Amino acid sequence: MSQRTKIKALLQSQQTDIDVTVKGWVRAFRSNRFIALNDGSTNNNIQIVVDFENTDPALLKRITVGAAISVSGKLIASLGKGQTVEVIAANIDILGDSDPEKYPIQPKKHSLEFLRENAHLRFRTSTFGSIFRLRNSLAFAVHQFFQERGFVYLHTPVITQSDAEGAGEAFHVTNFDLNNIPKTDTGEVDYKQDFFGTSTNLTVSGQLEGELGAMALSDIYTFGPTFRAENSNTTRHLAEFWMIEPEVAFNDLDDNMDLAEDMLKYVIKYALDKNPDDIEFLTQRLQEEEKQKPQNERSEMSLLEKLQFCLDNDFERLTYTEAIDILKESTPNKKKKFQYPIEGWGTDLQSEHERYLVEKHFKKPVILTDYPKAIKAFYMRQNEPDAQGRETVRAMDILFPGIGEIVGGSQREERLDKLEQRMDEMGIPKDELWWYLDTRRFGACEHAGFGLGFERLVLFVTGMGNIRDVIPFPRFPKNAEF
Ligand code: ATP
Ligand code: MN
Repeated sequence: MSQRTKIKALLQSQQTDIDVTVKGWVRAFRSNRFIALNDGSTNNNIQIVVDFENTDPALLKRITVGAAISVSGKLIASLGKGQTVEVIAANIDILGDSDPEKYPIQPKKHSLEFLRENAHLRFRTSTFGSIFRLRNSLAFAVHQFFQERGFVYLHTPVITQSDAEGAGEAFHVTNFDLNNIPKTDTGEVDYKQDFFGTSTNLTVSGQLEGELGAMALSDIYTFGPTFRAENSNTTRHLAEFWMIEPEVAFNDLDDNMDLAEDMLKYVIKYALDKNPDDIEFLTQRLQEEEKQKPQNERSEMSLLEKLQFCLDNDFERLTYTEAIDILKESTPNKKKKFQYPIEGWGTDLQSEHERYLVEKHFKKPVILTDYPKAIKAFYMRQNEPDAQGRETVRAMDILFPGIGEIVGGSQREERLDKLEQRMDEMGIPKDELWWYLDTRRFGACEHAGFGLGFERLVLFVTGMGNIRDVIPFPRFPKNAEF
């Protein structure tokens, strides 16, 4: 068996006139002479030149789009336009045929919807190759960022006992026979007889367990799958997504914001350095797509410029209260252009508001802090009421252009009495979370953390418009195929 060289290495080769073996999938075959071959190591194809006059016609017929082939031959400097090297084929083996009548992915532009229905084959397109190579780099960069700073990667459980935030978005986990569910005398589901002896669900966040780790290891992060049964069919929500959740002892909200901003810039820079070809390709792809839009809807910056801009500028930091004032006075609010008009203080911001702040007002990433206590989770640290008696918590959300919320975090309430009082007010069962409360009983300290939705980051870096296109096999309402 001969050694194969990856296409990425061949295209960068300093040496020519050497014998090589290359394997991959045929992207195109034209004039019975030129094969565009790709093996996923780069979005660029290598050109294989076939001496068709001296090749068995039966073999030529089997060189079809999608077929897996192995080619050995000479790597030479290319005379043609568009490539620096090419391979003059001496021998071609068909590893796996692909019936051109039946193969769904043709060398033409397919719609993203079509490719989603063919998610098992969409990796073979240039767009999805680039997306998943970038996703890989970003994941690696996340680990590298935290590891360089001495954080401990903590694995929090996927199966948990309580839907901690009580949002009711959790998927149940059971091994009951669903046609014969044991009931108690009073007719309720008898979870005592279930596998874990209690009701369980898939995790919606690793934060509470993450905090336990931070209260001993100081700096931890999680990076794992998260599940939410949200029935919102948006371009920003998945039922299964990956979340990165750092939690740091002795950090306050300012440290937390610095950490999040540094991290985002670090991983974006990593992707720019590591995958310039993929970003270049996706930048062009987005430009093509934008041409379909009317002039006033096109973005002012290209994808590459947006990413660079994000690195070069400090994120704008302001409080929720300041943001409300800006929104109240904004043109769309005055002209009643918002679907949800801003009337007063206290309601949650809708994505139209977030996007106005980021895309129109500040024109850069924004960090909003100190949200109303009433709309945020029980574990966020409570501020003193302001002069007007308004109650806020030390929360922060990072808003990105084109995305909206990419990070949600807070300084945590470390004072036991305040925390218990808030849990009572919100009806969070203290007995179920006794272990969480123990960290406030024994050696409590200031600490803070956040959750970054990994797919929203990949959306931003790839310039794609739908979150279903940046995870290999998206899970969303009425879809769990592949
Ligand atoms: P949103 O308001 O967009 O639904 P959230 O407030 O529910 O977000 P958090 O609970 O703070 O989000 O979760 C932390 C991060 O996880 C979010 O900032 C976002 O990046 C990501 N995220 C939340 N829900 C989803 C989802 N269904 N699919 C993908 N990412 C998500
Ligand atoms: Mn949500």
